Amino acid sequence: MDTFNIYTYIPQTRTLGPFLRFAIWVQGCPFRCPGCMTPNALPETGGHLMPISELVQLIQDTPSIEGLTLTGGEPFAQAGALAKLIYHLRQIKDLGVIVYSGYTFKKLQVLAISRPEVAVLLRQIDLLIDGPYVAALNDGGSLRGSSNQQTHLLTKRYATVLNDYYGQPKRPVEIHLTKEDVMLVGVPGEETLRKWQKQFR
Ligand code: SF4
Repeated sequence: MDTFNIYTYIPQTRTLGPFLRFAIWVQGCPFRCPGCMTPNALPETGGHLMPISELVQLIQDTPSIEGLTLTGGEPFAQAGALAKLIYHLRQIKDLGVIVYSGYTFKKLQVLAISRPEVAVLLRQIDLLIDGPYVAALNDGGSLRGSSNQQTHLLTKRYATVLNDYYGQPKRPVEIHLTKEDVMLVGVPGEETLRKWQKQFR
């Protein structure tokens, strides 16, 4: 698979993990979490078909990033393409990889038995934030939307910075203008999300 269906991307953000990151929202998600903040990324159709090589070039040309954050949509729905993207990037740059998935880590480990591309992508991830968003469990904690979601350090890359990150009392957000949309980027608190959706959705 040499193309990849994405909803959008933001070249530089500080709100989706430690350090400056290139963030990609994939198009398509099998889940329908009430209160999902990116409903336009849920249908499998739509989005933008991008050659993996074009994304590799874009990411390679983005200065000062420490790594990627992959979210959506559901990244594991396009595991093969993402695994290729990360493989090619890491031939050029040592980039960290953070993934938000609606699947639990346990479920992904089961899926990996029958789907090799899931196993390959899992091996490339440094930090996984797993599980569906549950609005009733939105407790304002850093980095994840609801308290059922867990952070899994799949390598040691972010082990030392994660505690500091969790120490932050707030959920930072940024507003970005893309070609088609105004994007709220980050994991907003309940009140911020409610105000945003009222104004812009
Ligand atoms: S898994 Fe994520 S993208 Fe999919 S519906 Fe739930 S919150 Fe939205």
